[in-house]
Amino acid sequence: QTTFPRPDDTRVFTIANQKGGVGKTTTAVNIAAALANQGLNVLLIDIDPQGNASTALGIDHYSEVTSIYDVLIDDVSMREAVAQCPDFDTLKCVPATIDLAGAEIELVSLVAREQRLQRALGIYLKEEEASGERVDYVIIDCPPSLGLLTVNAFVAAREVLIPIQCEYYALEGLSQLLKNIQLIQKHLNPELSISTILLTMYDGRTNLSAQVADDVRTHFPEQVLGTAIPRSVRISEAPSYGQTVISYDPHSSGALSYREAAEEIANRGVSGG
Ligand code: ADP
Ligand code: MG
Repeated sequence: QTTFPRPDDTRVFTIANQKGGVGKTTTAVNIAAALANQGLNVLLIDIDPQGNASTALGIDHYSEVTSIYDVLIDDVSMREAVAQCPDFDTLKCVPATIDLAGAEIELVSLVAREQRLQRALGIYLKEEEASGERVDYVIIDCPPSLGLLTVNAFVAAREVLIPIQCEYYALEGLSQLLKNIQLIQKHLNPELSISTILLTMYDGRTNLSAQVADDVRTHFPEQVLGTAIPRSVRISEAPSYGQTVISYDPHSSGALSYREAAEEIANRGVSGG
């Protein structure tokens, strides 16, 4: 088993695409698990009110659980909301509860509404570093919208990972996302870059998948990972067992491809070079 290189500094990724069902959550949890499986310290922040990433990592997220909602709205420290994932020693998760559905509106009237996640995460990362437990990767799983929750994720991150589903309209919805990222870069976070694009639900038997993959690679030659994630039943089954495919079926094609994608990410520099 390969050991992935440990980054010099904590790398913070936001997994974003305003389209639903393209594989954001699946990518967030499986990349996080694949990195943690190599002994890297990983923190996944679930910022989608659906809490699908929390479910997939086997983390409780009923309404009473201390969650990212309390961090964003009530100034609870991130440390209090962090939970240990059962399947991986070095993977932690800040869960999302359904309360987060109201946060989009509650955030509007708060001070520094776009920077709340960045601040809370900054404090947590400093504390961890001071205690000798530096976090190597932070992965933020976003909702399928471009509201204040996603803006908080873009402000807190350095890198954006965009999962693209290999289907007909894949590139069409992307221009809105790219425009929004440019706005964030201009006004809120000049350090943000789209470092990584991952092709998901690739079906090698169809011309369509191959065509979409070609198109995306032509538009984003630097960012697209060489590994594409195949369509796989094992990947879609794993969450119902509160597991990632990395622990659910480690030898399946889905687990192997996520491990390969994670290795590519680990081997790349911060600017995707
Ligand atoms: P998003 O977070 O963008 O809404 P999800 O990661 O939740 O998307 O994926 C949407 C659905 O597709 C889920 O039911 C998930 O299990 C399934 N899915 C994701 N990736 C794959 C894949 N590679 N093969 C098969 N099913 C997948
Ligand atoms: Mg999702």
